[in-house]
Amino acid sequence: MRFDSDYRMLIDGQLVEANETLEVINPAHGTAFARCPRASRDDLETAVQAARRAFKGWKKTPIEDRRAALKKASALIMENADAFASLFTKEQGRPTALAKEEIMGAAYWLASTADLDLPVDITEDTDHRRIEVHHEPLGVVCAIVPWNFPMLLASWKIAPSLLTGNTIVLKPSPFTPLCTLKLGELLREVFPPGVMNIISGGDELGPWMTSHQGFSKISFTGSTATGKRVMESAARDLKKVTLELGGNDAAVVLPDVDVDKVTEHLFNGAFANTSQICVATKRLYVHEDVYDAVRDRMHQLAKAAAVGDGSDQGNMFGPIQNKAQYERVLELLEDARKSGLTLLQGSDVPGEGYFIPLTIVDNPPENSRVVKEEAFGPVLPMMKFRDIDEVIGRVNDTDYGLAGSVWSADIERAREIASDMESGTIWINQNLQSTPLTPITGHKQSGIGSENGVYGLREFTQPKAIYIPKSADSVA
Ligand code: NAD
Repeated sequence: MRFDSDYRMLIDGQLVEANETLEVINPAHGTAFARCPRASRDDLETAVQAARRAFKGWKKTPIEDRRAALKKASALIMENADAFASLFTKEQGRPTALAKEEIMGAAYWLASTADLDLPVDITEDTDHRRIEVHHEPLGVVCAIVPWNFPMLLASWKIAPSLLTGNTIVLKPSPFTPLCTLKLGELLREVFPPGVMNIISGGDELGPWMTSHQGFSKISFTGSTATGKRVMESAARDLKKVTLELGGNDAAVVLPDVDVDKVTEHLFNGAFANTSQICVATKRLYVHEDVYDAVRDRMHQLAKAAAVGDGSDQGNMFGPIQNKAQYERVLELLEDARKSGLTLLQGSDVPGEGYFIPLTIVDNPPENSRVVKEEAFGPVLPMMKFRDIDEVIGRVNDTDYGLAGSVWSADIERAREIASDMESGTIWINQNLQSTPLTPITGHKQSGIGSENGVYGLREFTQPKAIYIPKSADSVA
């Protein structure tokens, strides 16, 4: 199978082209290097109808067979990880070694999720009756994925949808469609026709999908602004929704930390994937006793960081993934500059492509835009605090609540602080962690519902209670 051409959609088990195509840009150069299909309404209709037909058989397929198919899919991805990784770098920008980690992560998630179970729950078992709660699949899942982790986040939707007996129509972001289309080609024979469909398209495709009555469920990952539009659209026919949205995650650093050790983790937590991670640290609160030391070390690390084309070995940080996001981050930086904030910038970046130097904003006021908004780019505001209760108030003063972290030598104290932070995930002395068994879930406007683990699995099912008498003549 070739990875450098022939990008087609997977619909009803067939690889199909569309009448129109879209350019795919390499963000390290800002130029187009491939084209992907731009699905029409007819293509969407064909995919939804195929998925509906396939649902009838797939939901009755024994779960052990569905598990086996997911494991086979996982093995195939691993076998092709290098080819995926180099294509990934071209379309997404991330350095190839780190891109490969995402590919392997997607494979790992498929295989691990395949082992999960939603057993029948017995809520009563008495002399005269037994009540069983079964978890039934919903139908066809509409899965919509962003550009920052195209393969991993696709696997978070494919695995639970298909394991629980649903079928799926998945749409990657128009900025990063290629690996996902190749995933469809690779897995074409693993699932029966129509069980997994992958379609790519322009900005019109997402709204067409969320308003399509053939879907029973929407699993969406993206920005909070788009999430609200998705929910509005889903409300018309009360489709079930899982929304994994934006964040403005805080890290709180207490004065008892080992500065050198902790700062490496803080740096990675803020700037990995050029800060294009929903659960990246986007506000760093450091106790005044260690503030200067942490800031200076962070700045040193930024100056030493190699930023450039991810295809060149040695670069650890790639570009911003697309032009619109690049311009948004530049505008936020310009606003910070105009407001007289102190910017501590890292190493120089290439002149072409969507590169921005890793930037630390030194103790900006709490109400500045750079603190209040999710930058989704390498601009990290770092703020000083003295009193822990006061800083928890600042941490929680946001509409977001995705993740956060606490850093201290005193784990019990860190646990107390974690319990006061309003977020779906809190890490103590670590960050950016997730596991296939643990829910990722957004507090406040960071989302609705959960992904991963049995929490995530439940979101793809409908509980059904069956009341069963113990004998034919017992009537309640
Ligand atoms: P986005 O909301 O612009 O787009 C996400 C996806 O939705 C894309 O596939 C896009 O084509 C599609 N889309 C756009 N408009 C749509 C509409 N009206 N209806 C339906 N679909 C539509 O987000 P993005 O810029 O691709 O991704 C970055 C955002 O995603 C950040 O805010 C980040 O925090 C968030 N994110 C959240 C998580 C999480 O798990 N909570 C994970 C990754 C990214």
